[in-house]
Amino acid sequence: MTGAGGQIGYALLFRIAAGAMLGTDRPVRLRLLEIPQGIAAAEGTALELQDCAFPLLRDVEITDDPAVAFEGANIALLVGARPRTAGMERADLLAANAGIFGPQGAALNEAAADDVRVVVVGNPANTNALIAAASAPDIPAERFAALTRLDHDRALAQLAAKLAVPVRELRGVTIWGNHSATQFPDVAHATVAGRPVLDALAERLGGADAAIAWLDNEFIPRVAKRGAEIISVRGSSSAASAANAAIAHMRDSILGTRDGWTSAALISRGEYGVPEGIVSSFPVTSDGSGYRIVEGLDLDARGRALRDASIAELVAERDAVRELGVL
Ligand code: NDP
Repeated sequence: MTGAGGQIGYALLFRIAAGAMLGTDRPVRLRLLEIPQGIAAAEGTALELQDCAFPLLRDVEITDDPAVAFEGANIALLVGARPRTAGMERADLLAANAGIFGPQGAALNEAAADDVRVVVVGNPANTNALIAAASAPDIPAERFAALTRLDHDRALAQLAAKLAVPVRELRGVTIWGNHSATQFPDVAHATVAGRPVLDALAERLGGADAAIAWLDNEFIPRVAKRGAEIISVRGSSSAASAANAAIAHMRDSILGTRDGWTSAALISRGEYGVPEGIVSSFPVTSDGSGYRIVEGLDLDARGRALRDASIAELVAERDAVRELGVL
């Protein structure tokens, strides 16, 4: 795990050590990567991990060297990233993160285990994953993902609340595009207890037009901007929910998805018209061997326009990174 001294790291490590990611029968060895100024925070976390006396936790190693951190790694959680600071242009942000995710991809390529699976949490997550994958030519591209599981889970929770049903009755929600405010949380194929969500929303809200209006004016912006809402209410960014989503992403990749598909950002091979090589969120399933994109879902003109707007943002990020000479 990178960025292990940060707040998402603090929320992730204890649950991983307790078995939430890999099950309660699989021992865990943690390698924590930090930049030099983050090492002390990671060391403090490691002391607390020790004090928990987790039966599964075999070893914790802390380093500022990616080659050491990724040696033999089966799972890589890339959480640390350079945050946007006041006055920072997008090109500066992309360049700063290319300087982190390029070398980390190269180090994974050299040192990680043959079966490594990588998820990028640090933002801009989709493009950071693209850079890391491009820097790791020997690792199959489909092993790299960017996290959109939190967006997916936020969408499930908002729908469940609106329909007054338990989350477990929902299936078939998809996050398309970028992990950013342009993302498209899509319910066109979603069901609630086996019935189309669009029908259930229309019934509850007084018609199909009212359902679409709620989706466009409340649901989509609320899910897409939930991170900002959390910051304004909590005073700091989401950490435990982001950590929970990272755990769920890896757990379902390794143990397999149940209950239909979930969402993750994977490298496109042209699925749904997303340009090849772009890391976009898609509907995905795993049989335990890793995520695969669910194909063959139709979107109407409204859905395609919303999805295409987010894809256009990803293409612009990819082009900006190319202009920096990174790809
Ligand atoms: P957090 O642990 O809160 O966040 C880490 C990253 O996750 C950020 O890029 C953040 O993006 C991103 N993120 C993605 N989804 C979410 C979400 N839903 N909610 C919140 N964040 C999300 O950051 P901290 O500053 O507490 O910790 C970062 C740590 O990373 C520091 O200890 C720093 O030293 C370390 N770091 C390590 C590096 C390395 O190992 N080489 C490189 C760079 C930093 P956003 O900024 O958009 O919120």
